[in-house]
Amino acid sequence: MDDTSEQLEEDWNNVKTGKIDPKFKYEIMRMPGAEKVHLCFQCGTCTADCVIAKFTDFYRPRKIARTIQLGLKNRLIGNEALWLCTTCHTCIDHCPQGVEVSSIIRALRNISMKNLGTMPSIYKIFASNILKCGYVYLMPESRMKKRQEQGLPPLPKPNLNDIEKLFQATGFTMTLEKTKTTENEITEGAN
Ligand code: SF4
Ligand code: SF4
Repeated sequence: MDDTSEQLEEDWNNVKTGKIDPKFKYEIMRMPGAEKVHLCFQCGTCTADCVIAKFTDFYRPRKIARTIQLGLKNRLIGNEALWLCTTCHTCIDHCPQGVEVSSIIRALRNISMKNLGTMPSIYKIFASNILKCGYVYLMPESRMKKRQEQGLPPLPKPNLNDIEKLFQATGFTMTLEKTKTTENEITEGAN
């Protein structure tokens, strides 16, 4: 166990009751996809198979589930580590309890954005790219040419009017306007 992990274990064992929000778990369980967080029995499969946890100590999906169960809301809301999840869904495929970890992380991101009015700048860039071209990434002409050379079919043409309507109808356009950006500062709590 390294120093960071030891410190975390110590923190974990010294949770002060005043820092616990007993309603937090239920708040999360009301959000679509996050209903089963209470079923997590801490086997650690999600962390072992997580593509991000392999590269950083700052991100541990198993501990995110435990932190919710313990009601330690302040450790999670606004924690930039939440934005590291790639939404690859490997954790969902492998969880023996059917806990949808990536959906839980999406719920935590939504609460963070709502409460703090911030998101990492890269997500704003992704969103504006979707509005501009229908994809999170503005595909350079050279990449398109490469696809053609490789015999790949042209990319589907997104309906930008529909995308804009969807952004408006869901309130996401307004959210994007109001939300400030943060730099990625990883803090203790989701690890
Ligand atoms: S794999 Fe499922 S049960 Fe195991 S720690 Fe992760 S969320 Fe909990
Ligand atoms: S969806 Fe997120 S938490 Fe789950 S394995 Fe992928 S990166 Fe890890």
